[in-house]
Amino acid sequence: MTTETFSQPCPKCKEGVVSYVEKLNAVLCSNGKKCGFSVFDKQRGKELSKENMIALAKGEKIGPFADLKNKDGVTYSAELKMDETFKVIPVFAPKK
Ligand SMILES: [Zn+2]
Repeated sequence: MTTETFSQPCPKCKEGVVSYVEKLNAVLCSNGKKCGFSVFDKQRGKELSKENMIALAKGEKIGPFADLKNKDGVTYSAELKMDETFKVIPVFAPKK
């Protein structure tokens, strides 16, 4: 699978097309601000790769990453995914 030509119907507005925008280094919906679907590279203090952003946009979980940071700069480990409101959120591994 090549990520160069990534595009898919927008899961949020169901009208636009979600694709990777090289110039902005982000995955965005063609309906822009009207829709608001976006995945940017900066997430929880980490810089995501293009492949990571595309995986998130597809609804996949990525990670786990051991170097995420919260607002206070504390490092933690979690996977990332988009929730039902299309925000990127951390997913913590269940405690063993
Ligand atoms: Zn959209």
